Amino acid sequence: MKRIGVLTSGGDSPGMNAAIRAVVRSGIYQGLDVYGIYRGFKGLIEGSIQPLTLRSVGNIIHRGGTILFSARCEEFETEEGQHKAIAQLKKLGIHGLVVIGGDGSFRGAERLSQKGVATIGIPGTIDNDIAGTEYTIGFDTAVNTVIEALDKIRDSASSHDRIFVVEVMGRDTGKIALWAGLAGGAESIIVPEMPIQVEEVWARLERSRASGKNHSIILVTEGTNSAAEVVDELKQRNLDIRMTVLGHIQRGGVPTALDRVLASKMGAKAVECLRQGASGEMIAIQKNELIHLPFAKAREQAKPSVEPMLELAKMLSI
Ligand code: ADP
Repeated sequence: MKRIGVLTSGGDSPGMNAAIRAVVRSGIYQGLDVYGIYRGFKGLIEGSIQPLTLRSVGNIIHRGGTILFSARCEEFETEEGQHKAIAQLKKLGIHGLVVIGGDGSFRGAERLSQKGVATIGIPGTIDNDIAGTEYTIGFDTAVNTVIEALDKIRDSASSHDRIFVVEVMGRDTGKIALWAGLAGGAESIIVPEMPIQVEEVWARLERSRASGKNHSIILVTEGTNSAAEVVDELKQRNLDIRMTVLGHIQRGGVPTALDRVLASKMGAKAVECLRQGASGEMIAIQKNELIHLPFAKAREQAKPSVEPMLELAKMLSI
């Protein structure tokens, strides 16, 4: 293999740039030509592909977002779209591809691999919702962004004896809420894996009040009971309550050291895997070790239970 490509796809996450840099630099170090594909699978179909140099990935390790841009592309989900993409790669003699993205992007990567393009996935999503890996690039930064916001919100909550309901991202998983809630001392954490009734939140608030705590932070993962519903129900009980939806600030920002290191290791590992002839696999962290495993095998692996952390958070926020 002499020539490889790299693209970012799906939702962006802080640390993707560090992963691109690692793919480019480790690839060039090993004597490969590395091409950047712009706007994910959409750019691949359209042939938006440029060679990347050591210098084109300079000064990006600390930047959130992705210099290769990201996009969603329905056409790529069709056989025809995939054939168009493969034709673009063939035209440039690119035989290996690194796809940085989430679950959906990995399905796309798997399709290419099944059609003969050597493809390796790097998990990049703030949600940390990919089976087979304990961490994804961007999760740590997003959690830190939420904690920073919670610390500020708590200042106001405690000054006014108020209750704040804060909605965070996470899609089908409450990992961001759980980690940020535990680290930020939230009084209640609502996650999709273990939905709770507002009654239970109310009971916890009552208990807190009885023990002398006059302010509380309730963290809600988007899509579960949405923050607005929780606020409406609690307002009916005459509580002084405010709502904050953190939204897309969780997607951006300067990546933490942990995300930069993870991205650097994963980027270099992806190139190593391609050179060794692997395909249809993702890079992952399991038990603190950097590994690679087939996409299909990763999907079969159970996601770790959120229950122990949720219980710990409950115990520590009484
Ligand atoms: P993420 O990678 O963050 O989960 P998406 O689910 O939006 O984001 O997927 C990103 C892109 O991956 C889609 O726009 C599409 O181009 C491609 N993709 C998703 N699912 C498939 C699939 N089943 N087959 C082929 N490509 C897919």
